[in-house]
Amino acid sequence: MNIHEYQGKAILKEFGAPVSAGRAVFSVDEAEAAAKELGGPLWVVKSQIHAGGRGKGKFKEAEAGEKGGVRLAKSVDEVKTFVGQMLGNTLVTIQTGPAGKQVNRIYIEDGSDIESEFYLSALVDRSTGRVAFVVSTEGGMDIEDVAHKTPEKIHTFSVDPATGVMPHHGRTVAQALGLTGDLAKQAGQLITNLYAAFVAKDMAMLEINPLIVTKDGQLKCLDAKISFDSNALYRHPDVVALRDVTEEDEKEIEASKYDLAYIALDGTIGCMVNGAGLAMATLDIIKLYGEEPANFLDVGGGASEEKVTAAFKIITSDPNVKGILVNIFGGIMKCDVIARGVIAAVKAVGLEVPLVVRLEGTNVEEGKTIIRESGLNVIPADDLDDAAQKIVAAVKGTR
Ligand code: ADP
Ligand code: MG
Repeated sequence: MNIHEYQGKAILKEFGAPVSAGRAVFSVDEAEAAAKELGGPLWVVKSQIHAGGRGKGKFKEAEAGEKGGVRLAKSVDEVKTFVGQMLGNTLVTIQTGPAGKQVNRIYIEDGSDIESEFYLSALVDRSTGRVAFVVSTEGGMDIEDVAHKTPEKIHTFSVDPATGVMPHHGRTVAQALGLTGDLAKQAGQLITNLYAAFVAKDMAMLEINPLIVTKDGQLKCLDAKISFDSNALYRHPDVVALRDVTEEDEKEIEASKYDLAYIALDGTIGCMVNGAGLAMATLDIIKLYGEEPANFLDVGGGASEEKVTAAFKIITSDPNVKGILVNIFGGIMKCDVIARGVIAAVKAVGLEVPLVVRLEGTNVEEGKTIIRESGLNVIPADDLDDAAQKIVAAVKGTR
């Protein structure tokens, strides 16, 4: 689960990490009050969307101009103007995709005098089973580019959960960022605080880009991107309360109600698969035969007929879906249950696109019979390869 920058900063502040004073606002009136309260003389008006690259992003609407989603304002009037231009409009950044995201909240923050910008992030490193930190002097820019072109500028280290952050971690960060004296001390404290926040809140990722040194020698987290481990949300009602469903894909929200592992993608072939590995293989083979998957969907090991029906409805509600591939290996899950679920769903929502069904495993013959005798226009397939070729051919045929 992702949250907005201003919510992330509130959490960082709670754990003693340095952030600027700021207020989240939903209207121009609120922005005026917030700007007056903060006092200036420099404000930063920041669009709040669940995507990065806002500074270099562009609004679609002419009234917001070509200006980015993060703008410096030198007066209360300027704050009001920028907020008016951003609110309700669509910001396109490298992370939003061409459709962009509508800006519904704005964060007004004290402007900082920046001496230098760094990159810092923390994430769960699965290979070591620890929380790893990534730091670089190349802040504010696309860190992927830095990693690609100048990997020597990226420093990583992981923290042993038995000891937590040690003084040597602080020294590693200070050295990597070229900080000495009091700033080195601040870096050590920052790492300690960020690690505490990361662990306490079950974060999956925490990215500060940029982490800055101000002209008066203070380290500060100028941006904050946090995502949480969904499996641990049950013990963080305070985090769940920060969820902004307007930022999420409607189909993904619906899927989460049925406990389906669903991720919307950009392609044309809707997929219903059981098991994450088989789902990944299915996406790969669709691409291999020249089409793009419309989603990742793992209905799980022991899906009920109701769950299968829900999954089918979610897939067919996507207007980009031009064909559906059901690929089920019946182990714990039985093929006849899947077959009944598919039939029930087709009867409930109708079927306007080609449907290929590949069943294998427990009760496969029963499952195939149910589909055959349903009288529905389903294309049966024998194996994964056959299924992928059939659905790709069917989708190409409809164009
Ligand atoms: P994004 O990563 O989405 O572009 P950031 O929060 O990183 O958004 O802001 C983009 C840039 O705007 C930063 O790299 C920084 O140079 C500037 N900026 C952001 N917040 C402030 C602030 N409070 N004071 C001064 N400059 C800021
Ligand atoms: Mg940033």
